[in-house]
Amino acid sequence: MATKSIDIAPFQATDLKAVSVKCAQVATTFRTNRTKDLEWRKVQLRKLYWAVVDYTPQLSEALRRDLNKSAFESMLTEIDFVKNDCLFLLSQLDKLARDEPLRPPDVPLTFYAAGLRTRKEPLGAVLIIGAYNYPVNLLLCPLVGAIAAGCTAVVKPSEVAPNVAMVLKEMIEDRLDNDAYAVVNGAVPETTALLDFRDPGELGEIEGEERGWAKIFYTGGRSVARIVATKAAATLTPVTLELGGRNPAFVTSNANLELAARRLLWGKTMGAGQVCMSANYIMVQRNCVDTFIKGLQAAHKKSFPNGARNSELAHIANERHFARIKKMLDETKGRIVLGGEMDEKTLFMEPTAVLVNSTDDSMIQQESFGPIFSILPVDNLPSAIRIANQVDPTPLALYSFGSKEENEKVLREVNSGGASLNDSFMHGTPNTVSFGGVGHSGTGAYRGRASFDVFTHRRSVAETPSWMEGLLRVRYMPYDWKQRRM
Ligand code: NAD
Repeated sequence: MATKSIDIAPFQATDLKAVSVKCAQVATTFRTNRTKDLEWRKVQLRKLYWAVVDYTPQLSEALRRDLNKSAFESMLTEIDFVKNDCLFLLSQLDKLARDEPLRPPDVPLTFYAAGLRTRKEPLGAVLIIGAYNYPVNLLLCPLVGAIAAGCTAVVKPSEVAPNVAMVLKEMIEDRLDNDAYAVVNGAVPETTALLDFRDPGELGEIEGEERGWAKIFYTGGRSVARIVATKAAATLTPVTLELGGRNPAFVTSNANLELAARRLLWGKTMGAGQVCMSANYIMVQRNCVDTFIKGLQAAHKKSFPNGARNSELAHIANERHFARIKKMLDETKGRIVLGGEMDEKTLFMEPTAVLVNSTDDSMIQQESFGPIFSILPVDNLPSAIRIANQVDPTPLALYSFGSKEENEKVLREVNSGGASLNDSFMHGTPNTVSFGGVGHSGTGAYRGRASFDVFTHRRSVAETPSWMEGLLRVRYMPYDWKQRRM
């Protein structure tokens, strides 16, 4: 798929003056009410679908340049995700956007006649900030939800995937309604300008009531999330935060060790482990450690028959991330039992496992967000559960490979955004299943119906018929005669 003839403009940050113009434009467009029309939304969703189809060669090439992603991975984990989200929400939009009448038991029988219902209102003009590891999927899938819900949006791709950021800008400006959907490219200054946006509304600012975005949808790390949430608090702007964490995996002697090794290793090869939900440390029952490591080595050989260097493995995004991951390996007191090859020039890093003996190890203390992971021998499942709850009480994902009872015990006693039992990533794979964190791994969820809901206000409406007056007279003053009866 990679061809030299594909031109991608060099990365350029959006001029700061243009940033405020774009923000004001999408806010004004929302107030025209035209994005509330269902047919209009469907047209934009179809346009986005076909844009992604038509721009597949450019997107694929940009993903190769930024992350060395293979055409197969780009299609499977980026492009198809967005296309499937468009198709799903197009097929469900009429149903999702329809008013929901409220009937008993959702309303007491006495209020049944009051015509209570839930309307689905778009939140307004929203800001979507993406991360670098799945730069197409993580930016466009929330945008699909925002369009379906009837919101306008500014999207900010990650500058760490600069080629993708430029293709996304060209594609969106080429195909979508630019008054409603705008792209801002850049890093901290541009994102700060976006976070500082104030919407004066139609009549100008009301003192003490400064307004910003109707929602900020942020995907990225925890430390920047704190900046985003603090800025949002100034304008009481709601946030959806899709973050990461130190995701544990549990392997007991009741697991199929060979299969567990294969599936866990796969979770570290996809996107070269630069996946928010990839396992960070694997706690293996002590008497199974050797067999598990042998399983990893066998799976590694099968996936990389000519060595990982000569494979289709994605590369680390840039020198900064390469140095960050390498430092974890340099500082570990553990022993490398799998992989270990890397090349700073090409940003290649092999899936690498380190056998550690303490949770204080650099390999457990930080989120690797790369192809490296640690194996920590544990005496039994209860001690693994204790460790997981100390290391990170609310990871984004967890993986448990044990008996049915053991897996259930892990689910009951360790919290996480999502979980796959006997596998990696399965809970985050179908595009119709909601995806989100809990506690420090995030707040809110999207994908499937949740993508519509996350940008929608469920507005309760009542429509009281005049004939109900006879029933309602009980609510009016004076109360004396009613109180006398109490
Ligand atoms: P990041 O937080 O560094 O960057 C994310 C976005 O924030 C980028 O668009 C960037 O331009 C912007 N940003 C960076 N610094 C900023 C600042 N000081 N002020 C304002 N904006 C700023 O995250 P990343 O490195 O792109 O992604 C890695 C992290 O994201 C990992 O922790 C990973 O687990 C998490 N992640 C979570 C999900 C999820 O769906 N839950 C998906 C992918 C990545």
